[in-house]
Amino acid sequence: MRDYHLHPGYSLDAEGSLEDYIKMAIKLNYQEIGFTPHLEISKKRKESDDFIKLGNRIVDMRSDWLSHYFSEVEKMKKKYKEIKIKAGIEVGYYEEEEEEIREIVKRYPFDYILGAIHSLDSISITEAKENERLIKAFSNAGEYLERYFYLLKKAIESRIFTHIAHIDIYKKFGYKIFGMEIKVLGLRYLKDILKLMKENNISLEINTSGFRQFFKESYPSEEIIRLCKKVGIKRFLIGSDTHYLKDFGDYIHWGYLIIKRYRLKVRL
Ligand SMILES: [Zn+2]
Ligand SMILES: [Zn+2]
Repeated sequence: MRDYHLHPGYSLDAEGSLEDYIKMAIKLNYQEIGFTPHLEISKKRKESDDFIKLGNRIVDMRSDWLSHYFSEVEKMKKKYKEIKIKAGIEVGYYEEEEEEIREIVKRYPFDYILGAIHSLDSISITEAKENERLIKAFSNAGEYLERYFYLLKKAIESRIFTHIAHIDIYKKFGYKIFGMEIKVLGLRYLKDILKLMKENNISLEINTSGFRQFFKESYPSEEIIRLCKKVGIKRFLIGSDTHYLKDFGDYIHWGYLIIKRYRLKVRL
């Protein structure tokens, strides 16, 4: 078993040390895990996103907390030889911050870099408490998706990322707000998006956190996985997007069923 999307307690919305996660993974017989703390450096969302927990301190996302992260990972690799440990990151993509993101990730030896769209026009699309703002900003599914895929295309073309995380995250609140039609509408965009990803050698993750939602689907849905097969995307990551130790391994088995059903290769 493997899980490449784990949020240790650097992020304000996560809890648990690297060691806590590693011990749990060993107990459950995992062969390999990868950590993906959040990097969110949108100036427009500075108040809500731009902070990191470092021990008892809260520090700026732009400070050198990643050196601490890497030295912790190295320590853990020496201490726990029975499991493979990878150092990844999950980066929220913001068009206006692209160069700064590029500079930051270049400084560190990440094993992989997940790119994610978490906000549109500085409104979070992943947090329920910002749903009202989302409804005000986009009057229908078409407008909402147009903006999402515009940014996703930019993120892919930046070539900063090795993988795109939860590629159809727009459905998390989108199904409820804009209706189930966003499923079909999204697929129309995804054909070209997946081709672009293939050309740029960027892969995607099977993220099982969607199984926690009422729609009980992975990100991406199986319709999108079938499109990936058509386009020729060959390698995938699997991740549970765990933010708390108590959720460790949540629905990862369901993700593995999809991996098996579509004969996908899981590798970095
Ligand atoms: Zn994410
Ligand atoms: Zn995540």
